[in-house]
Amino acid sequence: RPTPVDVVVIGAGAAGLMCAIEAGRRGRRVVVLDHARAPGEKIRISGGGRCNFTNRDAGPRNYLSANPGFAISALKRYRAQDFIARIDRRGIAWHEKTLGQLFCDGSARQVVDMLTDDLREAGGELRLATVITGIERAADGFTVATTAGSVACRSLVVASGGKSIPKMGATGFGYEIAERFGLALQPTRPGLVPLTLDPALLERLAPLAGVAVEGRVSHGKTRFEEGLLFTHRGLSGPAILQISSYWREGDEITLALAPHTDIFARLREMRAANGRQAPATALATLLPKRLAQLIAEREAGAGNLADLSDKALRRIDEAVNGWRLKPTGSEGYRTAEVTLGGVDTAGLDSRTMEARTVPGLYFIGEVVDVTGWLGGYNFQWAWSSGWVAGQVA
Ligand code: FAD
Repeated sequence: RPTPVDVVVIGAGAAGLMCAIEAGRRGRRVVVLDHARAPGEKIRISGGGRCNFTNRDAGPRNYLSANPGFAISALKRYRAQDFIARIDRRGIAWHEKTLGQLFCDGSARQVVDMLTDDLREAGGELRLATVITGIERAADGFTVATTAGSVACRSLVVASGGKSIPKMGATGFGYEIAERFGLALQPTRPGLVPLTLDPALLERLAPLAGVAVEGRVSHGKTRFEEGLLFTHRGLSGPAILQISSYWREGDEITLALAPHTDIFARLREMRAANGRQAPATALATLLPKRLAQLIAEREAGAGNLADLSDKALRRIDEAVNGWRLKPTGSEGYRTAEVTLGGVDTAGLDSRTMEARTVPGLYFIGEVVDVTGWLGGYNFQWAWSSGWVAGQVA
C-alpha cells in the first residue's frame, strides 16, 4: 500500500525545497523526492560556489516568458527582501557584487544547509537517490511509484527544473509530466549560454581568446552592458550570456567593445597630437592590446595614424563599437545556466502555480516558462514560485 501524505514534491532543488518547507510549516505531511544523491546541487555550484541567491531589484521585467505578466503575482508575494530576511535570520553573511546581485560571503552550501535544516524542522521528509517510475491520478490525488515504494498524495508539486547541465541530473521529466496531464509547453532551448562562431571567424579571432572587456551587446532593442569575453569557442561573459536568452538562430548581434569611448574623436585627437603613431598603438590606449592590434590590422592596414582619413577612423570606430556578427549557435544545455520555455503559464494559476485543468498538480521553478536574467533572478523565481505553491499545496 502506498504511504499516504499530503504533498509530494518532485525535485529537491531551490523551488522544491522552498515549497516543501512552507507546506510543512502549515502542518502538511510532505515528502520530497529526488533522483540525485544530494539536494540542491545547482545551488551548491551556483555563482561560482557563492550562490547569487537573489537580486535586490528582481521584478517582472527581468524575466522572459510567453506571458511576461505571469511572474508579477508570485514575485510580489514573496520578494527578494523576504529571502534576504531569511538569509539574515540564519546568520549567513552576504554582499552585493554588482547590479543588485547578492552573493554569500562564504559558501553556497550555507544556503543548501539552511533549506534542508528548515525542511527537517518543518517535518518534511527528503528521499534522495529515488527514481520515479510512474505517476497515476487517483480518486483524491495522485499515486507516485518510485524505486523505494510508492506514495499517495493529495497535491503533487513538480519542481524538477530544466534541462541544463544534464551531467548534474537535469532531465526533461517535468515537461513529460506536464504533457501527460494535458498541459501545453512552450518550446525549450538553452539560455544564459556562451555563443559559438563559425570556424573561419573563430580562426581570425584566435588571438583574442581570453580577452575580456566591459562591453555592450545588443540584439534588436535588447541590450546588456556587462563583461564580454572572447574564448577559443566563441563569445562568453555576462553580457553574452544575457543576450543569448534573446538570440535566435540566424540573428545578428552587435558588440560595442568600448561603449563609453568615442573612438573616432579620440583617434582624431591622437592623430593631431602625434600622427606618427601606429594605429594599433593609439588604439591600445583605449582597448586591450590584442584587440587593438587585431582591429587596427584589419581596418587600418600599414602606415601610421596621419595616413588615415576621417572615413578610415570612422571605420575603426564602427569596428570597435558597432561590430555586427552572426553567432552560429550556442554551447547548448551542456553549459547553459537555464532552460528557456517550459510549462506554458496559460495553464497555471499565477497566484498558486496550480494547473488550471488538474486540481492538486503544481509546477514551480525553472520547469515553468519563466526564465530570469543572469544575476540572481532565477533563484528568486524559484523561491517566489515555490513559496506561493507552499501556501496552498
Ligand atoms: P533545480 O535547482 O534544477 O532542481 C531540480 C531538482 O530536480 C534537482 O535536484 C534534480 O536532481 C531533480 N530532478 C530532475 N529530474 C528528476 C527526475 N526525473 N526525478 C527526480 N528528481 C529529478 N541562478 C541564480 O539565480 N543565481 C546563480 O548564481 C545561478 N548560478 C547558476 C550556475 C550554474 C552552473 C547553473 C547551471 C545554474 C545557475 N543558476 C543560477 C540557475 C539556477 O540554478 C536555477 O534556475 C535553479 O536552480 C532552478 O531551481 P529549480 O528548483 O527549479 O530546479
